[in-house]
Amino acid sequence: MTGRILIVDDNLANIKLLEARLSAEYYSVFTVDNGKDAIEICKRGDCDIVLLDVMMPGMNGFDVCRHLKSDGETLHIPIVLVTALDGLKNRIEGLQAGADDFITKPIREIELMTRVKSLLRLKMLVDELRMRALTAHDVQMEHLFERVFAKPQPNEKVLLVDDKASSVERTRIALMRSGYQVIVEGDANRALEYAASGDPVLTIINIDMQNYDGLRLCSQIKQQKETRNLPLLAISNEGQDERIARALELGINDFVRRPVEPNELAARCLTQLRQYRYADFLRESVQATMEMAVKDSLTGLYNRRYMETHLANHVKIAQEKATPLSILILDIDFFKKINDSFGHDGGDDVLKEFAKRLTDNLRRIDLPCRMGGEEFVVIMPETDKELALAVAERIRSVVAEKEFIIEDGLKLAEVTISIGIGCLTILDDTPERLLKRADIALYHAKEAGRNRVKLEIAA
Ligand code: GH3
Ligand code: MG
Ligand code: MG
Repeated sequence: MTGRILIVDDNLANIKLLEARLSAEYYSVFTVDNGKDAIEICKRGDCDIVLLDVMMPGMNGFDVCRHLKSDGETLHIPIVLVTALDGLKNRIEGLQAGADDFITKPIREIELMTRVKSLLRLKMLVDELRMRALTAHDVQMEHLFERVFAKPQPNEKVLLVDDKASSVERTRIALMRSGYQVIVEGDANRALEYAASGDPVLTIINIDMQNYDGLRLCSQIKQQKETRNLPLLAISNEGQDERIARALELGINDFVRRPVEPNELAARCLTQLRQYRYADFLRESVQATMEMAVKDSLTGLYNRRYMETHLANHVKIAQEKATPLSILILDIDFFKKINDSFGHDGGDDVLKEFAKRLTDNLRRIDLPCRMGGEEFVVIMPETDKELALAVAERIRSVVAEKEFIIEDGLKLAEVTISIGIGCLTILDDTPERLLKRADIALYHAKEAGRNRVKLEIAA
């Protein structure tokens, strides 16, 4: 895996050392000796990961970190703080400033390489999601900030997998003090099942368990489709570098060495949670964008474009399988008058309420869409003439029977609709002809006095 790594350190000897090691692994390495330049490079989007020294004149590492993590343009760039070995206080402050990771001086090879690799992997994923979300529409940065940087939420559960009573208690208390809801599971199979339920947002595994190989569980979690994206943190004994390296190869997101320092654990969990929420937010926003393209924003029903594609598919299926297919075209009667009496907003309320009554009275496989204005179409697979008539009549009556409540209950409107039905019958029928026949039927319903249902005149 390649990546662009930015080293920020005021000490030239440190820079040279890191640069040599990382270049040997074919990473592109850039170096600067102060925070201001570092921020500028990050803002230009020219780096994938920052190795940041804490002690620097002027802006120190924490300041740089806070700056990068409070800017929507640089928030997603992983930051690794480089601290002194005894710098527990530094680490905690750094993680609280938003750093994603830290390594201690003197730098251990395995630590440097595995952490860089695992953070780069995450960066690639986030870049990909970010690009899709940004191409589609502007991500609402405020919402992203609120959500990514929120404290642990009461509904966010952490799964702790450990079968040693002594270590369970210490870890559990540390997590609970930081606001996490902790579910402890001593049995690996049950843990795997629970992780897949979608309930926990983070999993912590003691990889030195008594009765089960913790590394195997890490591997299972990272291979199982339902749990692959779940952040996974390992706890391991000091002096177990080989096992940690294995765990990282298996895809765990981070690790903590025993004895577990409560603040460090909490901060690392929070970092993982942030990354998870960030990816989650982008996934959702991509989905929302896709929905926006096919749905009508006022009623939440599918739009005309989607209906046309969907109808073409269903006509094809129905013809191939020789199954019936019916469509309804529905139009609100005298909608202009409704707008005149209740205003445009009142009219919109009627459209929304109508969409709800319509949806409530259809099966899941039926597809209701808004064609535009006050005209709607329903596509009903596996539905013959008689069934279509019954459905249409039911919809007509649930609209006419009860007045529509508009303007939050201030006013009541009497609403009726007319419906035309088209049924796919002959083999060389087309979506266009089907729609046309239903439309003519609708016209007849209007002519005959409205508030009624008319079947197509057979083709
Ligand atoms: P008919 O019974 O023959 O269908 O009469 P109508 O008044 O319902 O039909 P017409 O097609 O003449 O008028 C439809 C009106 O719907 C005109 C337009 O201003 C209004 N309209 C279209 N889209 C919207 C919308 O999104 N919101 C609101 N409030 N009104 C809309
Ligand atoms: Mg109308
Ligand atoms: Mg109309």
